[in-house]
Amino acid sequence: MSIAENVARIRAEMAAAAIACGRDPKEIKLCAATKMNDANAVRQAIAAGVDCCGENRVQELTAKLAENAYEGAPVHFIGHLQTNKVKQVVGKVDLIQSVDSERLLRAIDKEAEKQGITQDILLEVNIGEEASKSGFGADDILPLMEKIGEFPNICVKGLMAIPPISHNSGENLKFFQKMWQISVDIRAKKGDNVMVECLSMGMSGDYPDAIACGSTMVRVGTAIFGARNYAKDSSR
Ligand SMILES: *Cc1c(COP(=O)(O)O)cnc(C)c1O
Repeated sequence: MSIAENVARIRAEMAAAAIACGRDPKEIKLCAATKMNDANAVRQAIAAGVDCCGENRVQELTAKLAENAYEGAPVHFIGHLQTNKVKQVVGKVDLIQSVDSERLLRAIDKEAEKQGITQDILLEVNIGEEASKSGFGADDILPLMEKIGEFPNICVKGLMAIPPISHNSGENLKFFQKMWQISVDIRAKKGDNVMVECLSMGMSGDYPDAIACGSTMVRVGTAIFGARNYAKDSSR
């Protein structure tokens, strides 16, 4: 199956999942998770109509930006970002979805101030509380929002969920429901630098369930591009 055929199939499944729970399919964006796929594959996904691209690694982001790979679509950062690399990401992407610590939030805010911009971000939640994953705990989000005014050069657009890998539908429903509840709780929060509108959750294995639980953005890699070839990847 070609990238274009895959995107069309995923769109149809996204629409079906939305309609099944009484939602407007237009509310849900498709983010192509482009890690380990080259500029040519990224261009095909954009031509096929994905809403945005999500990149995981700074090195790949920088290389593909230099190749104009993302022309025609917004680009997001969705991987773990080290504080010493914020300069290479802030101001270069439309949204940093993977803000996983207060330390990183502070570093992004500082760099945005230096550049004279406001950087849109999502707070990443380690909703399955897995030791191997980064992200805020579910209980950290509300207290953090109470002091978000300390970071005037960022704008919080919502949350990104990193749940456990799921292989069967239904497995992550409880985590997606919990994410929805947190997003409702912070939506009530008003502030100059808060505009909660995005709940980024759902990947190749579970995006219909995520949509049923209120996701507004699914991040799909394998189902668009095919399995990633980790054997070819010299950086791991
Ligand atoms: C790779 C990745 C995805 C997509 O995963 P697939 O299972 O290939 O769809 C989504 N989000 C993040 C943060 C990723 O790193």
